[in-house]
Amino acid sequence: MQFRNLPSVDSVLANHDVAAAAKSFDREWVVGLVREALETAREQIRQGGDSPDPGRVAESVCQRIEDTMRAEPRPVINATGVVIHTNLGRAPLSRAAIEAANQAAQGYSNLELDLTTGRRGSRQAQLQSILRQITGAEAALAVNNNASAMLLGLTALAAGKEVVVSRSEAVEIGGGFRVPDVLRQSGATLVDVGTTNRTYVRDYDEAVTGNTAAFLKVHASNFRVEGFTASVDTSDLVEVGRRRGIPVLHDVGSGSFLLTEKYGMAHEPTPQESIKDGAGLVFFSGDKLLGGPQAGIVVGKKDLVDLLARHPLARAVRIDKLSLASLTATLVHYLRGEAEREIPVWRMISTPEAKLKKRAKSWQAGLECPASVEKSRSAVGGGSLPGETLPSWVLSVDCQETGVEEVMRRLRDCNPPVIARIEDDRVLLDPRTVLPEEDGPMLDALRSAVAQ
Ligand SMILES: *Cc1c(COP(=O)(O)O)cnc(C)c1O
Repeated sequence: MQFRNLPSVDSVLANHDVAAAAKSFDREWVVGLVREALETAREQIRQGGDSPDPGRVAESVCQRIEDTMRAEPRPVINATGVVIHTNLGRAPLSRAAIEAANQAAQGYSNLELDLTTGRRGSRQAQLQSILRQITGAEAALAVNNNASAMLLGLTALAAGKEVVVSRSEAVEIGGGFRVPDVLRQSGATLVDVGTTNRTYVRDYDEAVTGNTAAFLKVHASNFRVEGFTASVDTSDLVEVGRRRGIPVLHDVGSGSFLLTEKYGMAHEPTPQESIKDGAGLVFFSGDKLLGGPQAGIVVGKKDLVDLLARHPLARAVRIDKLSLASLTATLVHYLRGEAEREIPVWRMISTPEAKLKKRAKSWQAGLECPASVEKSRSAVGGGSLPGETLPSWVLSVDCQETGVEEVMRRLRDCNPPVIARIEDDRVLLDPRTVLPEEDGPMLDALRSAVAQ
């Protein structure tokens, strides 16, 4: 009987707010939303619920409109202390990188026009020249992301042939990226050698057949094998490759141009080292430790990079003009020697402990609720430096009254949402990853989240 009480489409459309929406938005769309909302109500009745009145249905229609109109992804405040947080969009961009993307978006540009000759030009010429200067490579190419860079590289060089990979490096990076799957997709056959914990030069050497196209090395960017382990250095592998006429492809993952040991962390392999060691192609992401937009970068020997650039798949994975502009601007920071100051991920990584402590103290002073400033650790995250942390100071909020999960939920519900972390039944907020201009809104969110 509840079904008979269900409001009609017209009665919901007659609601003041829905009528206004139908006028300012596409009417057909709004009518469709009303039908969807009524179908949801019908489903709830089938499950034993009550029939909603027209006002409630109208409200849900307005909510759907609001949800659709809201800009997504929404900005959030990252108080987790994880610098490269994949769920939170990895690297924030530098001022110059934002400005460059903005400019490229606004009007026309010489994207593929050579202004001297008036002929068609390459969208990547300048970017490639900068990448060569930073890494010392003969040639460079930027594509959509590192996964597509790998797919392109393996397809262009190894389709129908064999690629030798250590068993310890046939890994899953996360988000659906598995080395064996990418290899299969490229049409290459994976030949895994060695064991999970130990692989030697001779393992690669013995696996070579007349059909071997490449040796592939993959940086274990999200786990660590400890104890009785052995792996082969790029330079040693290059030596075998040279003897057998086989190029070494190296996926270094995060693309750190700076030395992470300077900040007390383990050494993250850099593209320039790998080039120096003689790798044929080196692959890395633009939005991890490089600190730029989503992109995949390949640097290496000119004849190999040319094969990739000329392959039909290159067109399918090409980089768009906004990313190209902001990637170029990000790379210029390295040439100018100002990466630590201008690139947000490096500014965060290099923030001294004393400064973090001072900032956490100032947060504490701005709150009325019980909170303490404690020594803690921040992580780099995002498929770089697994298990490595940086000493930090955090604001630790006592949530006895409300409960940690509820405080976390309320923080996510704020505008902008604040993402914190839980440790030992306390909510922790790490100043390392909170941008200076976010202090005000973050404290507002915190006050409302702990209020009774
Ligand atoms: C992150 C990562 C990838 C994938 O890079 P995307 O830019 O996310 O496509 C591939 N390999 C390694 C080693 C990585 O760390």
